[in-house]
Amino acid sequence: MPQYYIWTIGCQMNKAESERLGSHLEELGYQPAATTDKADLIVINSCVVRQSAESRVANKLDALRSLKRVNHSLTLAVTGCLVNSETDQLKDHFPYVDYFFKPGDYPQWLEKENKLQASLPQHPSPSTFVPIIQGCDNFCSYCIVPYRRGQERSRPVEEIVGEAKELLKRGVKEVILLGQNVDSFGHDLPNKPDLADLLGELNTIDGLARIRFLTSHPKDMSSRLINAVASLDKVCEQISLPVQSGSNDILNAMRRGYTVEHYRQLIAELRTQIPGLGLSTDVIVGFPSESPGQFQQTADLLSELRFDTVHVAAYSPRPGTIAARALEDNVPHAEKRSRLDKIETLQERIAAEINAQFPGKTAEVLVEGKKGGKWQGRTRNGKLVFFTETSHCLGQVKKVRIEHASPWSLQGKVLTSEHQ
Ligand code: SF4
Repeated sequence: MPQYYIWTIGCQMNKAESERLGSHLEELGYQPAATTDKADLIVINSCVVRQSAESRVANKLDALRSLKRVNHSLTLAVTGCLVNSETDQLKDHFPYVDYFFKPGDYPQWLEKENKLQASLPQHPSPSTFVPIIQGCDNFCSYCIVPYRRGQERSRPVEEIVGEAKELLKRGVKEVILLGQNVDSFGHDLPNKPDLADLLGELNTIDGLARIRFLTSHPKDMSSRLINAVASLDKVCEQISLPVQSGSNDILNAMRRGYTVEHYRQLIAELRTQIPGLGLSTDVIVGFPSESPGQFQQTADLLSELRFDTVHVAAYSPRPGTIAARALEDNVPHAEKRSRLDKIETLQERIAAEINAQFPGKTAEVLVEGKKGGKWQGRTRNGKLVFFTETSHCLGQVKKVRIEHASPWSLQGKVLTSEHQ
């Protein structure tokens, strides 16, 4: 049997697509290979959102060129955000790559008749990603995604619900709805259902335990959606809402379409409506012309709003974006690094303080797997929990007494049934 190997870098969207591509290849008769040198087909699922990711993709392709020299029957394919409409340029640059295809846009030799069934993971994790909207219409000035993934295309509600039911049969307990901007889901569909409608439909599926979604956009998050999260019992109390900067001038230059004041109000509404909400955000430091004072506004906002998780990145210009064309990348590299370190240090302290409240409490954990001999899973509000237990726990919801906390995770002991 031919063997395949998929190398993935980047966001959850890429991970979900790789999982589905792997399943698709197995339907076509391929088996997973343990290493690249055993594979007959290697697919690189690329990310170019930051320079560091793009460099890792280039290094990986470079390493595979040598493999291709000794293994002439190896097929090498590249998908993900490196692939744009002009594949001729990519072919010139990487002549040893056999195929370039856009995410989900399989070449003919990979097509199957029953696309939906074939693309679902055969042995999914109890918590599985379900893409609901592709592309992005926003054109934030720093972001390459709209150029690579195109305009927003929502999947029909019935298709997503059908997929969730099929995943349930395969052992899934939780679906995580994915999109670059899930809050604009449905605007391109007949009758314009929105994310709140979709959550309502999914909430009626018997046996499905939990529903999450990411990523939200502050300019598109509606009160209707917040009410849906607050009222639907299976929708978890967790929101990912990138703020990117605490300065209105920088938000304007980023073309984000909201102000700090609007963002603050949203967080207040979310926290009032959804008790126990887990909140994460994304921040970019060192955006063109970001002054020390504007950076401090970001740090102050994070101190004020106290997120559970902050993903911070140093700005790197992406060729072809508005910022790369029109704005000078004028914050020195060392200064970007220093700002990034400051945010990470600040957030580590905040997360440690938040998590210090958990020891002594009991958490409901959906068990997703094992790591380092311990079971691991998440609470409804997204806290990562590790615990030891001899019985098989995968896919079960366990009550765990939390004993220790770090900024990144909680550790505890599972309660025996008589204590539950
Ligand atoms: S919302 Fe902005 S940052 Fe997010 S994918 Fe779209 S353009 Fe990129």
